[in-house]
Amino acid sequence: MKTENIQDAFENARKQIRQACDLYDECRLDENKYELISYPRRILEVNIPVMMDNGKIKTFTWFRSQHNDARWPFKWGIRFHQDVNREEVKALSMWMSFKCAVIDIPLGWGKGGIIVNPKELSENELEKLSRGYVRELYKYIGPEQDVPAPDVNTNPKIMSWMMDEYSLLVWKYSPGSFTGKPLSSGWSAWRAAATAQGGIYVLEEILRLNNDEIKGKTIAIQWAGNAGLTAAKILSNLWAIIVWISDSKWGIYNKSWLKIDEIENLKSQRKSVIEYSDAEILWEKEVLEKECDILIPAALENQITEGNAGKINTKIILELANGPITPEADAILNNKNIMVIPDILANSWGVMVSYFEQVQNNMNFYWSAEEIDQRLKDKITTAANAVYSTSKEYKSHLRSAAYIVSMKRIFSAMKDRGEVS
Ligand code: GLU
Repeated sequence: MKTENIQDAFENARKQIRQACDLYDECRLDENKYELISYPRRILEVNIPVMMDNGKIKTFTWFRSQHNDARWPFKWGIRFHQDVNREEVKALSMWMSFKCAVIDIPLGWGKGGIIVNPKELSENELEKLSRGYVRELYKYIGPEQDVPAPDVNTNPKIMSWMMDEYSLLVWKYSPGSFTGKPLSSGWSAWRAAATAQGGIYVLEEILRLNNDEIKGKTIAIQWAGNAGLTAAKILSNLWAIIVWISDSKWGIYNKSWLKIDEIENLKSQRKSVIEYSDAEILWEKEVLEKECDILIPAALENQITEGNAGKINTKIILELANGPITPEADAILNNKNIMVIPDILANSWGVMVSYFEQVQNNMNFYWSAEEIDQRLKDKITTAANAVYSTSKEYKSHLRSAAYIVSMKRIFSAMKDRGEVS
């Protein structure tokens, strides 16, 4: 999927922080605070040579951004995508900071991405790229230092190769060096479904606070990747009606409901949703503008912009993707009274279960799926309520409220370490 305005992701993140700072006295009255949190501290660029199956060496570039280290160790996702760029990785590292703080986990914040379309690589080339990445990086990461995880187009198998390479390089089995691994190598039960399940728990809680429920709501989902498809399954089980769904090129519509099992089968055979048996076909982006009760952008950044925000025809947007709405579009949606449940709250539950995984790896003692689910639910209810009540207190939308909740925690950690007064 070609994303538009991707170069603006970093500026968008800064604008969101600015908006929240303008509402929050501690930042509004002290410009240094905004300055301190609106840039990442370190950005690294590395080129990885990989011997391809045809015998030619191809070089892949990756970026790594560390936003803030007030709460160590660093925690971040690795993205494999052809549109990865420096500004995007900087923005994602900043959003990661606010996510970890809004759900209150003791981790620092960063992000990494490789410019690659993994669909064009053989399995052998993908493994070489993943291991090569770790060889360039291993001196800077580790369970107590810096812990990567999956993001767009990276998965448990890739995390397992990376953990294996890291363990070989440091001569020590280190399951806590990467999270999002397969169960056999120390995965926390729940990790695969965590981002979507967490987002749906947030949605349920916000609806409950508004005396509403999921049952009977019509849903549109942009991008049936891991998060989008899992969300579709969970919502169907809660009696919501999935009417629109897309992959990275095509969208489909069925006014009664779409059969999620069939979509899952198509996806697992690497086929497009266009081959669905009984649906109207449209362009992937058009799904965003269709009438529904709840719209779930689950793709990449900058999908809802000034250009299409006026056409959005929904009541609630649950941001499962990072940064799908630009600040200009946010203002338009706000005027239309569309409630946006922001990414830093809605999609932060993958990293929460990553954190659980790391804790379990470090203890070498594993919790049951029920125990993890309960811990997740407790944390989500607390975070969703904190953001909701902050939005009432500051008379703001949920995004600025989520930033304010996060900023309070970030500045408190920075104060304790003597970085700010
Ligand atoms: N990549 C995911 C995110 O952006 C998860 C990161 C993690 O599990 O540490 O939230």
